[in-house]
Amino acid sequence: MSTILSQYFDQEKKQVLEKCLVCGQCISKCPIIKYTNLEKFDPREVQRKVLEFLENGTEYDEVYTKSFACMECYKCVKNNCPKGLSPLMINEIIKWEYNQRNLIPILYTDPKDDNAKQRVLSSIQISSEEYNKIFTPSTKDTVQYVFFPGCNVYLQPEKVLDALDIMDIIGEDYAFVPGMDFCCGNVHLEAGAVDKGYTASQELISKLSSYHPETVILYCPTCLCRLDMTISKVSEIPFSIISFPQFLTQNIDKLPFKKEINKTVTLHEACKAAYMGLDITSAREVLCSIPGVNLTEMPRHGLNTACCGSSSMDFFENSMAIVRDERLQEAEETGADILVDICQTCHNIFAKEELKYTFEIINYVSLIAEALGIEREDKFKKYKQWGSLKRILEDAREYIAQSEYPRDTIIEVLKNSIASEESHE
Ligand code: SF4
Ligand code: SF4
Repeated sequence: MSTILSQYFDQEKKQVLEKCLVCGQCISKCPIIKYTNLEKFDPREVQRKVLEFLENGTEYDEVYTKSFACMECYKCVKNNCPKGLSPLMINEIIKWEYNQRNLIPILYTDPKDDNAKQRVLSSIQISSEEYNKIFTPSTKDTVQYVFFPGCNVYLQPEKVLDALDIMDIIGEDYAFVPGMDFCCGNVHLEAGAVDKGYTASQELISKLSSYHPETVILYCPTCLCRLDMTISKVSEIPFSIISFPQFLTQNIDKLPFKKEINKTVTLHEACKAAYMGLDITSAREVLCSIPGVNLTEMPRHGLNTACCGSSSMDFFENSMAIVRDERLQEAEETGADILVDICQTCHNIFAKEELKYTFEIINYVSLIAEALGIEREDKFKKYKQWGSLKRILEDAREYIAQSEYPRDTIIEVLKNSIASEESHE
């Protein structure tokens, strides 16, 4: 049975077919296109094929590339199309059509899957006690705030622990809803599984609402943008939403910084939150409040910021790598000691590349935690840089012994994500 969200997708598809001028602007302005083979095509010709695909299902490689190379950066959602259409939405409609027609095996991890890589990799980076903490929802009835981390950050579980410690230091009454068991729907929607995405989003909204909060604090910039761009169009959201950096900015006077960082940092913000106008200044304000932090901006920042390559990594890894490397080169040219990233997906994409540059790559929550005297190692970054199964298994042996996952499962997940057999020895 189709959900209200797939009906919305259907309406949007009709709007595209009715309104699109086939001007090609959305393609010529898209920052990933020049790094794909679409670069040599006339954008209007590509868009004409998009409309033909949507109208009668005619398949073209160009349509596949336009949609599946999309970084989901949200740059085009507002003020990009003369007819007010969202090119990102068009790409997601294409993926939805692919999914419905089984045109391509669209592989992604459902966070609820017991063997989801985030669950398995979390279990080898932190103690079983810490693991239980970040997978257990609060039992409170009514609170002012609910904190929800989203699913992707569970690859880097110490960041959830850092964020919860910071929430506790601030001291406002809040409930915690774990990611993984709940999801904003993004992982499904990015893969074209619209009805699954809708169901996941409704389970999340229902769980968050059960605490009757005034405000929900979203750690993940993608959850923030997904709820704003898609889910709010088809469901009532009975609470206000802010990002974690916005919550920190509101409570900056409650953060007792103990340690001076004394470094020049440059900021790679969450591009989608900036492009959508949802959160542009708060991460900067928090960073600048840390003692000894000197912020130097990259040429592309704020509303003019740049993506890390993000979602194009799944199907167009080479294109993603060019976008990523351009951004890291831009950071290098600032002369900063540290590149601070906000989004855990950017951190995932950048982590291994740190070895090639003169600056460190540190997530903002880790830097804030460090300045507050909370020390946790970024093991995900370390393991990505090592890439050696043998070395990771040796380093993580204490937590592997505590993990609920069998060693074979852990090895399989490591090999499929961050460790290769070749670098085993
Ligand atoms: S910019 Fe808008 S009108 Fe122009 S081709 Fe893209 S979707 Fe169609
Ligand atoms: S979301 Fe970003 S990558 Fe995707 S079509 Fe829009 S501008 Fe291009």
